[in-house]
Amino acid sequence: MSPEEGESGGLPRQVSLARLREFGINPKRSLGQNFLVDDNILGLILDRLGPSPADVVLEVGAGLGVLTRALARAAGHVHAFEIDRSLEPALSSTLGEESNVSVHFADVLDADLGALEPAPTLCGSNLPYSPAAPFLAESAWRLPGIRRYTVMLQREVADRLMARPGTKSYSGISAWIQLHFDVVDHRPLSRAIFYPRPNVDSSLLTLERAVKDEFVTQRPAQLRRVIDAAFQQRRKSLVNSVSSSLGIDKPAVIEALAAAGFDPKARAEELPPMEFVKLSGAVTGLMEMP
Ligand code: SAM
Repeated sequence: MSPEEGESGGLPRQVSLARLREFGINPKRSLGQNFLVDDNILGLILDRLGPSPADVVLEVGAGLGVLTRALARAAGHVHAFEIDRSLEPALSSTLGEESNVSVHFADVLDADLGALEPAPTLCGSNLPYSPAAPFLAESAWRLPGIRRYTVMLQREVADRLMARPGTKSYSGISAWIQLHFDVVDHRPLSRAIFYPRPNVDSSLLTLERAVKDEFVTQRPAQLRRVIDAAFQQRRKSLVNSVSSSLGIDKPAVIEALAAAGFDPKARAEELPPMEFVKLSGAVTGLMEMP
């Protein structure tokens, strides 16, 4: 069966497939190159993201440029990151006349996101698998001007971002993301909208910025360190995990946590996100910050 046939039952899926054929591209699984081949999803992403000509959209993983072009037509400017320079001819061909796109051929995880000009106000992307979670964690605080993300990502990552305390998926990134955003929409996606078809399920997730406490923006580096430390040994008590991961004397941690009203047996995996703000405040004087 050719990639154009079957699978999604006659949905429009021409642009990416035409580019692959025209430029003889073999998608690289190692880079998460599962290209969007169902044009209907473009409308869904634009609807959830809601870009206007006043917006600057950040896209991670431009690929063959199908989403980039749709974003460029709705927004004032687009910053599109793509790690694979071999896609340049196909990407330029798709972008054609669009003059409001800055293409950055770079690993988004190495980029100085805070230096982007004009500064992004939205993020719309079909995220590559492996950098998805670290990118979201980093951009949450490096790019405070982004008010909404509408991103396609692995279902398992989406579940972690939305997870509630006490569940298997709840982890440091759940707390960190939920301290910055509300999840306003989650939609499971069919594997048939990608070529090649991925081996895992995906979701379309929309996050709206809703910072839960001023500590989150005032002391982000400290908060992140404390969350990471607390989850480093998720089955241990907070006292043990925090003291060993941050290298602070255990008696000092016991005293600080007791003064802040923490149950001495509490564990990170049970704490709601706001409790990590309280925990960070409690250990402030004990931590060495650069
Ligand atoms: N936007 C295109 C689409 O929807 O068809 C492509 C999406 S594909 C899931 C992800 C893209 O991210 C690939 O083109 C891949 O080369 C690129 N990519 C992978 N890792 C990256 C990274 N660290 N930084 C920037 N781009 C990356």
